[in-house]
Amino acid sequence: MAKPADTRTAGRKPAAKATAQATRSAAETEKIRAALAARRDELRAEYDQTLSEITELQRDRLTDSAGDDQADTGTKTFEREQEISLANSIRERITQVERALERLDEGGYGWCERCGNPIPVERLAAFPSATLCVTCKQLAERR
Ligand SMILES: [Zn+2]
Repeated sequence: MAKPADTRTAGRKPAAKATAQATRSAAETEKIRAALAARRDELRAEYDQTLSEITELQRDRLTDSAGDDQADTGTKTFEREQEISLANSIRERITQVERALERLDEGGYGWCERCGNPIPVERLAAFPSATLCVTCKQLAERR
């Protein structure tokens, strides 16, 4: 003896679909975390490498600058500045990846800012700072 209202509540509601869109499986989250961590380690190694190159350039400049003419000194200074700006940009990328890892823990990472869909794991691995899914990114670029 169910009332018509009860029958309606028991009917098919698209609740399951809505939930599926707003969650990402734990396995996927782990995949993203691993990709981000690997990227961070790569960048850190690159950063250390760049720093030791800077130190080397600096040492060269101090030890054998006596025999250099002005052009040599200028080249070395330029090289060193290049290395420093490279180191800075690597450090910035490390910060981006670390921030992404924090947001991943909070559950706020990897969602398209425009349409709210999850950004595919592969895309996040390649571009840890991606904030749009491929479709929205393409739409944004076309404009
Ligand atoms: Zn999107």
